[in-house]
Amino acid sequence: MKIIMATSNMDKVREIRQMLEGTDLEILSLKEAGIRVGIEETGTSFDENAAIKAEAVRDATGQLAIADDSGLVIDYLDGAPGIYSSRYMGEDTSYTVKNQAILDQLKEAAPEQRSARFVCSMAIAWPDGHTDLYQGFMEGRIAYEIAGEGGFGYDPIFYLPEYGCTSAQLSPQEKNAISHRGKALRQVVEVLKQHRE
Ligand code: IMP
Repeated sequence: MKIIMATSNMDKVREIRQMLEGTDLEILSLKEAGIRVGIEETGTSFDENAAIKAEAVRDATGQLAIADDSGLVIDYLDGAPGIYSSRYMGEDTSYTVKNQAILDQLKEAAPEQRSARFVCSMAIAWPDGHTDLYQGFMEGRIAYEIAGEGGFGYDPIFYLPEYGCTSAQLSPQEKNAISHRGKALRQVVEVLKQHRE
């Protein structure tokens, strides 16, 4: 079963493909599906943005589409970068620069003030016009320094106390097992499997 995912972020597509290995569900990015739609993320929440993206692709194709909207919520920064995670400091700014800027802003923050979470909303936009939303969360803390080469984006500054390392220092399998995206995707996969039966 091929499903169009309303994203051009290949880091996300890579993680989702790893998680779908061994199933007969296959994800196609917009580019791979040959779909060109201009989507503006005008929502004010992860849920709204996920729905906007999935519905735009469903409306353009008439087929079921899924989308995720995700980001890093830092309590000390009143929830920033939040839904603006990919746009934070400009789309073209490297994550080395973005991550260092966040560490600088939290220089004075004590360990208990460094709480943060990755959030992922996933939307299934169905051909009949309705949309379902699922969420996943991964709790952690903002690290004191950048560490790790795995993952992408803000992973090198996201410290997981139970593991004693950042999410960029986990193997892909370890990250997928506990990640916001993994938790949301497992719910979506269950629903899609049931729908097919
Ligand atoms: P979106 O494409 O609008 O959903 O933005 C997602 C952004 O949130 C990414 O570009 C990253 O900046 C951040 N993000 C989401 N999930 C992760 C993750 O698993 N690791 C690191 N950064 C993430």
